[in-house]
Amino acid sequence: MKLKKDKYKLYTPEEIQQIKESSLIVGKTLAEVAKRIAPGVPLMLLDRVAEDFIRASGAEPSFKGYRGFPSTLCVSVNEVVVHGIPGNQILQDGDIVSIDCGVYKNGFHGDYAYTFPVGNVSKDTLLLIERTKQSLYLGIEQAKAGNTTGDIGNAIQRYVESFGYGVVRDLCGHGCGRKLHEFPEVNNFGRPKQGVLLKPGMVICIEPMINRGTYKVKTEPDGWTVRTLDRKPSAHFEHQIALTEKGTEMLSTYEYFEN
Ligand code: MG
Ligand code: MG
Repeated sequence: MKLKKDKYKLYTPEEIQQIKESSLIVGKTLAEVAKRIAPGVPLMLLDRVAEDFIRASGAEPSFKGYRGFPSTLCVSVNEVVVHGIPGNQILQDGDIVSIDCGVYKNGFHGDYAYTFPVGNVSKDTLLLIERTKQSLYLGIEQAKAGNTTGDIGNAIQRYVESFGYGVVRDLCGHGCGRKLHEFPEVNNFGRPKQGVLLKPGMVICIEPMINRGTYKVKTEPDGWTVRTLDRKPSAHFEHQIALTEKGTEMLSTYEYFEN
């Protein structure tokens, strides 16, 4: 495979700081949502909390209305991989829930995600969460100018497959700035030195979606909800980062809600 043509946007340091502003609102929104996550809570409550907080921050939800998506958050429980629509479903003790949030402000999008345990979660599933998050950081280590998207995907894939997990193939990370989804695609699998060459000025979202069983997934008739084919649980973490002349800068942070 040859390197794909450069079709992606490169951002100035000033633009990157504006993207970071949107990304930090995502973090504060996730913190508001995290406070409410508990057994007995309906998913739509989490969505309302997020939308209210984003609008009170002078921003807009990026996802609501995007290609017709009806909600502020993607809320994906257990075997739902991503793009779950928050409705009447109630969180149960032992569930895991991925919260994916996008924020638009001053012409720029922030986008990232985190998977939370609900009450008492089985050891196997907690390990899935922990290792999925670790795979994201291994991917980020490879995300530097001069490397390729294949270097990122390979680092993620090698790590999680060593535990027998499945790496979702049908969905990927992406560039993110003026538009929510831009080139390049950032797969969570791949080969070193292949894919798109990474350059200073690129802003990308890396988002491993890792299944305890098969990598295969299926989209529900609602056109959004993506489930694992074997109904085993799936975890999802996402960070938004910028590649700069000085190195890789994290635009997103989990510090508002971790521990
Ligand atoms: Mg994303
Ligand atoms: Mg996202």
